[in-house]
Amino acid sequence: MPMEWWYSPWALGLLGLCVGSFLNVVVHRLPKMLVRQWSTEAAEILTSHEEVAATGAVSATEAQGLANRAQALLDGLAKLPRYNLWIPRSACPACGHQLAWHENLPVLGWLRLRGRCSACATPISARYPLVELATGSLFAAIAWHVGPEPKTLLWCAFAAVLLAASFVDWETTLLPDVFTLNLMWAGLVAAALGWTLPLNDALWGVVGAALALGGISKAWKWLRGMEGMAMGDVKLLAALGAWLGWQMLLPIVLAASAIGAVVGIGMKATGALREGRYVPFGPFLAGAALVVMFAGKERVMAWLGWA
Ligand SMILES: [Zn+2]
Repeated sequence: MPMEWWYSPWALGLLGLCVGSFLNVVVHRLPKMLVRQWSTEAAEILTSHEEVAATGAVSATEAQGLANRAQALLDGLAKLPRYNLWIPRSACPACGHQLAWHENLPVLGWLRLRGRCSACATPISARYPLVELATGSLFAAIAWHVGPEPKTLLWCAFAAVLLAASFVDWETTLLPDVFTLNLMWAGLVAAALGWTLPLNDALWGVVGAALALGGISKAWKWLRGMEGMAMGDVKLLAALGAWLGWQMLLPIVLAASAIGAVVGIGMKATGALREGRYVPFGPFLAGAALVVMFAGKERVMAWLGWA
């Protein structure tokens, strides 16, 4: 088969369906894995009762009590069965039925099951086939847009990380470093290797995001005593700067804020937003970045009247 075939929208669309299937696992499991990891870390800190008492927040006796509770938590965590992206195998959360290979097929598996577990008939969220379809269409669109060359795979990976990060952020309002920081480093390396954009644009993209958003967030916190923007959003924007260049930071933030505000107001009005919760910003930053990726720097600059 000619090399071009492997970079065709059809081939990459199929690859996207499979990657989407993996992203479903990541979106479902990563937040749980992180909570386990953070609980372990927090408990380990609490077990050093002398240091905890030295903060002056609690008495030595109270610190000892906390340390005992923390040790119980550590013992409990150590007894849990292994849980990562590969172990255990995919199963129905309601009845534990392990998915057969054909039930695990992207989109088709869900359609064939008509959206219900084959063992207990509990409905399976439509999010699973939707994430697969979204990833598949995005990969196909990138293949069509970038053309049959290795660079296509690079931008597919970029899009896949953004999708996973968006869904995790939407569901948990967590934007884990494993997405944002790795995407940032990868963007800088890709630029340094001459695969994406001039290294200077990428570097200032990272620094600009950290200074601008990080600065605004710190100032907001100082003025209002509350977090203006979560550091996860700042790290995500830094990653986007590494891939798309400092010139695209402002357009991305503007577009994300505008769409995010409309969605936030809509959700408040319809009661879809629970009390005390906020609309995560990450998915809108990611969406704006994908628009910028497809439109290209020149067109975005023209839209803004900068060029
Ligand atoms: Zn079931």
